[in-house]
Amino acid sequence: MAALDGLPPLRDVIQRHGLDAKKALGQNFLLDLNLTQKIARTAGAIENHTVIEVGPGPGGLTRAILALGAKRVIAIERDARCLPALAEVSAHYPGRLTVIGGDALKTDFEALAPGEPVRIIANLPYNVGTQLLVNWLLPKTWPPFWDSLTLMFQREVGLRIVAEENDDHYGRLGVLCGWRTRAHMAFDVPPQAFTPPPKVTSSVVHLEPIPNPLPCDVASLERVTQAAFGQRRKMLRQSVKSLGGEALLARAEIDPQRRAETLSLDEFVRLANAL
Ligand code: SAM
Repeated sequence: MAALDGLPPLRDVIQRHGLDAKKALGQNFLLDLNLTQKIARTAGAIENHTVIEVGPGPGGLTRAILALGAKRVIAIERDARCLPALAEVSAHYPGRLTVIGGDALKTDFEALAPGEPVRIIANLPYNVGTQLLVNWLLPKTWPPFWDSLTLMFQREVGLRIVAEENDDHYGRLGVLCGWRTRAHMAFDVPPQAFTPPPKVTSSVVHLEPIPNPLPCDVASLERVTQAAFGQRRKMLRQSVKSLGGEALLARAEIDPQRRAETLSLDEFVRLANAL
C-alpha cells in the first residue's frame, strides 16, 4: 500500500536501497508514518520554519515533517547509503529538502540557516545524542539560533533531561537543560515501533529556550555540577572540596551537609557564581 504522501512505503525504500540497519550508526528506523507525524507535530507550528533534522536515515521522519508543511528541511546524514533514498524525497518536494552528507558532530548548525527561524527535530542516534544536545544548549550566543528542540532519546536520557531536584535522574544534564530551557517529556515510544527494535523504551522530549536564563558562567556551572554529582551520595562539603569546600558553600549560602541532588537550579547557579 502506498503511503499517504504518494511516496513508496518505507519498507520498500529500505529494501530497494539495501539499507540494512547498522548498529554502529545507531540505526533504529521508524516505519510508521503516523508515529513520525506525531513526533513532527510535537514541534508545534513549522510552516514558517526551517527544520534541521539529524540522521534522516531512509526518511520516515523527514517525510512527516515535509508532509506537515515545514517551509524547508535541512537534514544531515552520515550514512552515504541513505542519500539516494533521500534524493527521491527531495525530488518529491522540490526546493524544500536539502540533504547534507556528513557527521552532525562536525556540523556548524548555526551557519545552516542564518537569520531564519529554526526548529530542530530528530530521532537521534543513541551514541551521539547527548553530545549534540549539549552542543545545542551551549551555542555562541543566547537566545540560541533555534526556537525548539524535539528529540527522541533512550527514555533513561529523557528522564535525565527533564529531571529536577530530589529526583534520582537529576544531574549535570538536568541542571544544564533546566538552566537554559523549559523541557518536557512528550511521550514514550516502545521498542517494537522501530526496525530493528532497540533494547529499551525511547522518549520524545521537547525543549524551548528560556530567553533570559539566570546569569551564570557556563564553565563554572559545569565545574560545580561535575564535582557535586561526581560524588552524588556524599555531602557537598566533601564533593566540592577541590573547588573550595565549606568556604565556597558559605559564600553561596548553602548548607554543607546537603547532597547534590537536593540543590535547586537557582542554588547551583549561586554555587557557580560563588566560584
Ligand atoms: N530518522 C530516521 C528514523 O527516524 O527512522 C533514522 C533515525 S536512526 C535512530 C539515526 C540516524 O542517524 C541513522 O540514519 C544514522 O545513520 C544517522 N547518524 C548516526 N550518526 C550520525 C552522525 N554522527 N551524524 C549524522 N547522522 C548520523
